[in-house]
Amino acid sequence: MPETPRPDPGLLLDAETRAALWRRLGDVIEHYLERIAGQRVAPQLDPARIRALLKPIDFEMPLEPLHALDFAVRGLWEHQVHPPHPCYYGLFNPATTPMSIVGDALTALFNPQVAAWSHSPFAVEVEQHLIRAFAEKFGYDPAQTCGTFCTAGTEANHTAVLAALTHAFPDFATKGVRGLPAQPVAYLPAEGHHSVHRAIRLCGLGSDAIREVPADLQLRMNPTLLADWIEEDRRHGLKPFLISATVGTTNAGIIDPLPEIAAIVHRERLWFHVDAAWGGAVALVPEYRSWLAGIQHADSITFDLHKWLQIPMGAGLFLSRHPDILDRTFRMTAAYMPREAAGLPVIDPYTQSIQWTRRFIGLKAFLSLAVAGWSGYETVIRHTVAMGQKLRHELAVADWAIVNRTPLPIACFVDRRHAEGEEQLYVEAIARAVVASGQAWISPTTVGAGRHVLRACITNFRTEPRDIDTLLDALEHARANVASNGGRK
Ligand SMILES: *Cc1c(COP(=O)(O)O)cnc(C)c1O
Repeated sequence: MPETPRPDPGLLLDAETRAALWRRLGDVIEHYLERIAGQRVAPQLDPARIRALLKPIDFEMPLEPLHALDFAVRGLWEHQVHPPHPCYYGLFNPATTPMSIVGDALTALFNPQVAAWSHSPFAVEVEQHLIRAFAEKFGYDPAQTCGTFCTAGTEANHTAVLAALTHAFPDFATKGVRGLPAQPVAYLPAEGHHSVHRAIRLCGLGSDAIREVPADLQLRMNPTLLADWIEEDRRHGLKPFLISATVGTTNAGIIDPLPEIAAIVHRERLWFHVDAAWGGAVALVPEYRSWLAGIQHADSITFDLHKWLQIPMGAGLFLSRHPDILDRTFRMTAAYMPREAAGLPVIDPYTQSIQWTRRFIGLKAFLSLAVAGWSGYETVIRHTVAMGQKLRHELAVADWAIVNRTPLPIACFVDRRHAEGEEQLYVEAIARAVVASGQAWISPTTVGAGRHVLRACITNFRTEPRDIDTLLDALEHARANVASNGGRK
């Protein structure tokens, strides 16, 4: 019986349509890379406009493929803050490299299932290759390092807390939190990222298990207080188990005093986690490596490739110098998982991480690094650090006072010309005016004991001196605007 051709349900599409789609997609990518610098950084925020745009989209009436592509492209162009814009002085969200875009596209196409080694041997080995390469940069012995790619730094920090619990309390895997011999205590820096706090809560420990160690005047974790608190907690019968320090705080780029903290950790036999989510990138530059001296003593490290390494979100990395800690923390097997590789000297990623089904996170980083090489990345990190120095210099010349001391490219600043330069309303009005101008994106935040500051960070490899001039211009206009509005808007 001859087969009657099925009507195309619109999933695979025909070869000619696909060819047109790929051409258009290539054009879109090239257009965005070439033109984004000339566009607004941030959109006007108008939920009604976006909902009106979406209203006619009715899944009862499928769209033409090119039309659908154009619709999404227009929506994204017009309605988002553009992290790849060279005047995005924001929260480490990167401009992505063309090779990493290729990596993500290939990942979507081949769709490797990175849960079991036997399903995706190439993908798993690429990630292990990267894990060893980054381990070496952080001063770990690559042969003794275990690691896993994560959705982001938040998952890597969660992994660290679980690893610390497993290490400190051998019965944790079976008895859980109820079986702990005493109240566990984790020491977190007051200026640290709150994903660590949340990880403590998600592990069932509750926020009572957290001691926030205050910062000194330079916003660094105070090691003297840390040592005192551990001693006091021990005296009260509590069980300290984890110290987390930060290399490059999110707000101000502060690097905690790792050698002093490492000495305390060593004496007290606690798990030492270093959250180097964005600042860790300086490990790639030989002459900056001394900034994170001591990190090699960390029991575990969080590092995000989707920040300063210009890789699309999300690409977190968890590393540990305890080769079996992931295995001890996560191993669990299941009858339905493939076992073809059982006799081989390999590991199944699903036995080593929070995730089970997992996308090939490493490819976008692998391709970008393979093409730029370490030397390309060194150049980028040096360039952005130099841009950071230029930014601080230009701000100071224009009468803005820098309040954070760090070699990393991030400035927290207040207005010297405004009598109450640190007043919350003033700082927020300046940031709002800069963002509304469409010229640049900066943000207001607080550092230390609630000090209100403006924050501008440069981790975008495409930011050039002229972009810093643009930011300074926008700040000058904002000053004038806010002054004439009496600080209202
Ligand atoms: C960004 C950041 C995180 C969180 O990582 P995500 O990738 O956003 O989940 C953790 N710690 C620090 C220091 C960060 O800057």
